[in-house]
Amino acid sequence: MAETKKIAVVAGDGIGPEVVAEAIKVMHKVEELFEYRFEFEEGLFGGIAIDEKGTPLPQDTLEMCKRADAVLLGAVGGPKWDNNPKELRPETGLLGIRKALGLFSNIRPAVVFDCLKDASTIKPEVLEGTDLIVVRELTGGIYFGEKFRREGENGQEAVDTCVYSVAEVERIAKQAFEIARTRSKRLASVDKANVLETSRLWRETVIRISADYPDVELEHVLVDNCAMQLLRRPASFDVIVTENMFGDILSDEAAMLTGSIGMLSSASLGEGAFGLYEPVHGSAPDIAGKGISNPIATILSVALMFRLTFGYHDAADLIERAVKNVLDAGHRTGDIAVDKSKAIGTTAMGDLIVAAMVK
Ligand code: NAD
Repeated sequence: MAETKKIAVVAGDGIGPEVVAEAIKVMHKVEELFEYRFEFEEGLFGGIAIDEKGTPLPQDTLEMCKRADAVLLGAVGGPKWDNNPKELRPETGLLGIRKALGLFSNIRPAVVFDCLKDASTIKPEVLEGTDLIVVRELTGGIYFGEKFRREGENGQEAVDTCVYSVAEVERIAKQAFEIARTRSKRLASVDKANVLETSRLWRETVIRISADYPDVELEHVLVDNCAMQLLRRPASFDVIVTENMFGDILSDEAAMLTGSIGMLSSASLGEGAFGLYEPVHGSAPDIAGKGISNPIATILSVALMFRLTFGYHDAADLIERAVKNVLDAGHRTGDIAVDKSKAIGTTAMGDLIVAAMVK
């Protein structure tokens, strides 16, 4: 029997609790089929925590997350809290939890399911076989550098500084090489080394780290070229690693290849195996409580957790295959349905995926 893994569950607001409930059903099914065991602990987070505890990230929720092997997060936010001061906004809790847990990279897979190719704005033949992961550095670079205004010769100027240390590049590069190793062993490092000094340091460091991963094929792609190639030949990428701002932009571009936000999973990782897993979408207040949200992004986030934190590749494969089979059979929630009148609800989609999980 495998060691019991502790999962901290922070479902949050809006559709968060609905989609998380389906993901937990999938984990219970994994317990039935494999020797893996999970222990769930739930905590308040986001708007609901503001209402009940006066802060978006209560100390006991944070302690619970620190005790866990992995965190499963739903989504936070909603109009009720939109006009609150910054410290009482649900999104402040998101930044706080990532910082407090030392999560320095954000991982976003972009997988095109054949049967959903038509939902994308890109031609189906270009999308064929697309299955990539963007590994984005999350805590350094221009978003976190010194920012100020000053008087220049031609009036007011604004300055944003971009700083990267060797250590920051090393740790994300190692993580990306490790992930590439579990896939098709190809890594594209994206930078702007023809112009930026931080990018030259990035490239030098990635090349040095690559010596420890001779089995992984490394290519360097300039960020402007990468933006084009993602639309021209997305299927040729496997793992892409890049700095914070480039990753912010490229991961959104890659996400759009897949067609629907209800399908996109994500992970935030720190040192070691610990990770926080969540759908890319928000709390969708417009459909919350109606039972029509798509739980697939959260269910695929569980598959990602099994791969990246626990190394349960067999269970991850089974979940991903079940999702594919349910979609291939024509079942759709409203966000991905062409004929909306045939759309099924959140629970029905979760039940179908669970039923399709056969070894
Ligand atoms: P959103 O992702 O919540 O919704 C955008 C659109 O996509 C909406 O029409 C919504 O109905 C639809 N949608 C999203 N997820 C879906 C799903 N699983 N199934 C079906 N349809 C889905 O983004 P938004 O409307 O810009 O933000 C709503 C709230 O969520 C805001 O308060 C925002 O701050 C917050 N937010 C939170 C996170 C997070 O928790 N990580 C991320 C983004 C936005």
